[in-house]
Amino acid sequence: MFLQRLVEYAERPGFDSPPDSYAETPIRYLIELDADGRLLKPSLTDTADASQRELRRGLRYLAPAVRRTSAVKALLLVDNATYVLGRAKDDTSGSDERARACRQAFYELVADCAQSTGDPGVRAVASFLEGQGSAQIVLEDDFDGTANISFSVAGQLPFERREVQRYWADRNETQENVMQCLVCGQIRPAQARLQRAIKGIPGGQPSGTAIISANESAFESYGLEASLIAPICGACAERSHLALNRLLRDEAHHLIVGKSAFVFWTREATEFSFLEMIAQPQPDDVRQLLLSVYGRRAGPVEANRFYAAALGANGGRVQVRTWLDTPLEEAQRNLARWFVRQRIVGRWGEEPRPLGIRSLAAATVRELGDVPAQTVQSLLLAAVGGRPLPSGLAYQVVQRTRAEQTVQPHHAAMLKLALCSQQPDQEEPMTQLDLSNTHPAYLCGRLLAELEQAQFAASPNVRASIVDRYYGTACTAPATVFGTLIQNAQPHLAKLQRDRPGAYAGIQRTLEEILAALGGFPRTLSLNDQSLFALGYYHQRAHNRAQAIAYKEAQS
Ligand SMILES: [Zn+2]
Repeated sequence: MFLQRLVEYAERPGFDSPPDSYAETPIRYLIELDADGRLLKPSLTDTADASQRELRRGLRYLAPAVRRTSAVKALLLVDNATYVLGRAKDDTSGSDERARACRQAFYELVADCAQSTGDPGVRAVASFLEGQGSAQIVLEDDFDGTANISFSVAGQLPFERREVQRYWADRNETQENVMQCLVCGQIRPAQARLQRAIKGIPGGQPSGTAIISANESAFESYGLEASLIAPICGACAERSHLALNRLLRDEAHHLIVGKSAFVFWTREATEFSFLEMIAQPQPDDVRQLLLSVYGRRAGPVEANRFYAAALGANGGRVQVRTWLDTPLEEAQRNLARWFVRQRIVGRWGEEPRPLGIRSLAAATVRELGDVPAQTVQSLLLAAVGGRPLPSGLAYQVVQRTRAEQTVQPHHAAMLKLALCSQQPDQEEPMTQLDLSNTHPAYLCGRLLAELEQAQFAASPNVRASIVDRYYGTACTAPATVFGTLIQNAQPHLAKLQRDRPGAYAGIQRTLEEILAALGGFPRTLSLNDQSLFALGYYHQRAHNRAQAIAYKEAQS
């Protein structure tokens, strides 16, 4: 399941998974001490770099971290100026008192750690805090009292020592709520409130969104509160959150479309980038994929696996809307098939170009921002999961073509993708004009394009073409409109016959062929038929335009 795969990701070599009760934390200032706890220099070492967004609050370390309330509670060896230096945030006496309490708590924690671990670095810090060392520190004018401060002892960071990490983990391990962790299966204390939030999900809170939480009692069940509904131990919670946040930060692993965030990864690292293929497919890469997938022999199953999740935010919680866990090879095969199914000739008859998930989703709505999460999820599941596209999507595209009174390449690609995904054996036809297709809806679409061609050839400057006016009716109820359209075309054809006999002969021949194959006009067209109509119209138009270009080139 999702969280287990995230924990595995965090445990991959090179990931730098944090020790228990540690979290990635920016540490801006370091107090430099020698091995005996004497100040090496009065100024603090500033690790921040204002020119880099990531480093504005200082270098990031895996450091002791637990969630705090307003009560005085020190963090081990790393904290803000109130705790480390006893510096009040403002000058009112009340906060001075609080600052003293904070500093005392910080010192006591370090002293306890020094005693319990015997670590020389921690001992040095304890002796520095015990003496008057802090008084010698000189703060710069731009000192940020809210930033984290820690200690470097003879060039080492004591909180990175294994003994210190173990001390902190033990100290924070409560024996409350001991139950089976649903991720690692061990019997351990479950986290009552998860320490970290997920950032980067559209619609989520700026401070981050909890992945498993139940802040409202309506979500609470079985008498278990908050995150205990899905008990997760501290280590698993920390790792899964760290992994997901890293995936959501990494350009190569996530994609935001509309109100959904998608994350993709593989169990073992691979060169293949699903993200690029889905977001901005390049013709050469798609060709390579097809070659590798269709040229591959069915050998032993590759062990690597592909994972994808669609995430959304709802009321401060992360929703895992879709979760896919499949062998990598199968995901690649599905992706190859998805590109074959969406192949469609260009609007001027050019070679088909692969379309990314955003372009396809855009075919279903007026504005890309309106794309519902469900649409993108269906497309993703079709692309990497090999699932058929729901027919509702084709319906939305057909509605767009009727509203726009035309068929654009991304409309045609989506319609073909939907048709092919519902009829898996029929893949390659329908990429371009198919003269053998005698389906009445397809022929009606072609006929409309050819009548438009006659009108355009006869009067190139016409303001509103027949398509602008009749596309919607022609594609839903052909019988009500085609008789009139053919009649109205007669003056155009007569004019053409007189002025451009060559063009006339071509158009007339095509019209006769279509009408002969058609017999009569269907009264109404079903949804599937309307898709075929759109494709017939699009194909014939691309074919006519390609011919016009070829003719012009032959003339020049
Ligand atoms: Zn666990």
